[in-house]
Amino acid sequence: MCFLFFYVVKCFGYLNFILVIRMFPRSVWDFVRSFGERGFYEVRGWRFDFVGPRFRFRPSVSDITSICPSSRDVYLRKVRGLRGESSSMVFGRLVHEAFLYPFSFRGSLSDLPSRFRGYLRSFRVDDGTRRLLWGVFERALELYATSRVDGISVSVEPLIPASAIGLSDYVRPDALVGFIPVEITTSGELEKKELAITAYALSIEAWIGHPIDYGVISHISFNGDIRINWKVVNVDDSLRRKFLDVRDRVARMIEYSEDPGIAANCPSSCPFRGICYGVTPSGSRI
Ligand code: SF4
Repeated sequence: MCFLFFYVVKCFGYLNFILVIRMFPRSVWDFVRSFGERGFYEVRGWRFDFVGPRFRFRPSVSDITSICPSSRDVYLRKVRGLRGESSSMVFGRLVHEAFLYPFSFRGSLSDLPSRFRGYLRSFRVDDGTRRLLWGVFERALELYATSRVDGISVSVEPLIPASAIGLSDYVRPDALVGFIPVEITTSGELEKKELAITAYALSIEAWIGHPIDYGVISHISFNGDIRINWKVVNVDDSLRRKFLDVRDRVARMIEYSEDPGIAANCPSSCPFRGICYGVTPSGSRI
């Protein structure tokens, strides 16, 4: 895969390489092309004077992108040792699994639907949720079939070394298409997902010394029908600096066991409302 990537980049250039990848609709790549070659950024993953760790504690990507605006949920987990997962978090995790299933499957394409049907039966969910997950799987299967025809493989949840940029030992994007990080989400909090894409881009840059200027967010929503919206993220210097600010704020909070206090706008799905407000949202497990 790496050999194929560098060979095509050498022959056709980076942007042309991503245009031949068919995991995404053509319109996504047309949009990427419209950006042009803009990538003269100062904060690169190999610039350790900018991105090196500033604290002993190195947060994970999920610490940096947690749903709490003040990151108090990270404090409750990491300092006070509490655990919590809301029903929307569980649903999001299952949607991830359904979407990525075809791309991580090793076997014949014709076996995929029956294998996923069996896998789906192991989920403890109601029939409506099961139908939604099947619909997500079908949409992913269409994309997977296209990528297979073109002979382009997609790495699902690959481990990427990240300690050099002050994160946990490894980070795991949902997928890498070539070296383009892809994040799948059911949440409308796309700003947090942009930070995740930035974390992956910087980690890859630190790892291979090649600029990563773009990532893709795949936002899956359910409103009578299953919709997949693709957002191309231009990982520019302002995003890179914002990521470093959040990384350092979270690292300092954990290193010095500082309670950041209750956030101004708490999402109703936060599983720690029972701790912060004495109200537990239905379906949460603490
Ligand atoms: S209830 Fe609010 S302050 Fe507490 S962890 Fe959740 S989002 Fe953060």
